[in-house]
Amino acid sequence: MTVVLPGFLDAHVHLALFDPARLAAGGIGRVLDLGGWTPAAAELGDHAGGDRPEARFAGQFLGAPGGYPSRQAWAPAGSSCPVAAPADAVEAVHRQATAGASVIKVTLNSAAGPVLTADTLVAIVTAAHKRMLPVAAHTEGAGQAEAAFDAGVDLLAHTPFSERLSDALLGSMAGRITWISTLDIHGWGEPTAAFHLASDNLARFHAAGGRVLYGTDLGNGPLPVGLNRREITALLACGLSPDDVLTALTADFPGRPDAASVAAASGERPDRAGPVTVIPGDRPADPHDLAGFTDWLLSAHALPAHALPARALTRPDLEDLRS
Ligand SMILES: [Zn+2]
Repeated sequence: MTVVLPGFLDAHVHLALFDPARLAAGGIGRVLDLGGWTPAAAELGDHAGGDRPEARFAGQFLGAPGGYPSRQAWAPAGSSCPVAAPADAVEAVHRQATAGASVIKVTLNSAAGPVLTADTLVAIVTAAHKRMLPVAAHTEGAGQAEAAFDAGVDLLAHTPFSERLSDALLGSMAGRITWISTLDIHGWGEPTAAFHLASDNLARFHAAGGRVLYGTDLGNGPLPVGLNRREITALLACGLSPDDVLTALTADFPGRPDAASVAAASGERPDRAGPVTVIPGDRPADPHDLAGFTDWLLSAHALPAHALPARALTRPDLEDLRS
C-alpha cells in the first residue's frame, strides 16, 4: 500500500547554495533555510500551486561583528548581520522579520572568531520571542551549546559536536530545546571524531526524551539533494526507531503555524494543504529491519497535495487502512 505523509522537512538547508529543483524527487517537500537566503519580493506573492518545496527561512545570520560566517568564503555577500551590543538586537531581528523570516538564526562559533556576548544573545532571543519567532543557533566550540541553551535559544542548528555534553545538561535541554540532526556533515560517510561526538550526544539527548528534527545543512559540502541515506542511517544508529525517524521528518515547521511560506525559488506560494511525501509499497513489517525501512523510506517522493489522485475509498480500502 502506498503511504502518504506530511511533506518531509529538511530543517537545515541553505537555498542560496544549491538548486532545490530535485528535492521533491528525493522525497523532501519542505525546507527550513537557516541563513543566507531571502526570497525575492515577487516570491512572496499570493499564487496557488507550485511543485517546489515549501520553504521558510531565517534571513541573515546574526552574530558578533567579524564572527562566523561573515569571513567564510561560502557565505553570500550581505548574508551576515553583525550585532555588536544588546541595543542592536531589536533592529537586527526587525530586519529579518520584515523580510519575511519565520525563524531567527544566530551564530556562536568560538572556533572561527568572536561570538555574541551573553547579554547580546539574550537581547536577540527576547526581541525574537516578542515577535513569536523561534531562535536557532549554530554552536561550535567548547561551551557554546550550553551558552545558547542558557540564553533561551529554541533550536540548535546542529547536534553539538565540539565536546561531549554531560547527561545533566542533556537532561535539562530535553523538553526545552530542539536539535536539528546534521550528523552526516562530519565526514559525509567517512565518520570523523566530530561525527562520533555528535552521535553520542544525540543518542543520549534522544534517550532523555529530547526532540530531534531531521536536517542536513544541504548546500554545504557533498550532500545528496533529497533524503540523505547516511543521515537516516546515523539517526537509526543513535537509537531512534523508524517511527522516531518519521516523526523527525514530518514535524511542523518551528515557529508560528501562520508564518509566510514560499515555494522555493519558483515565485509561487504553495497550496494551502502543503506538500505531501508519498512512499510506494509496503513498509517492512519487521520493526528490526532497519535496512529495509531505510530502503523503503529512500523511495519517497514529494508532491503538492493537490496533485494526489483523489478517489473515493471503498469499504475494503478502509479496512485495509485500519489494519
Ligand atoms: Zn548551515
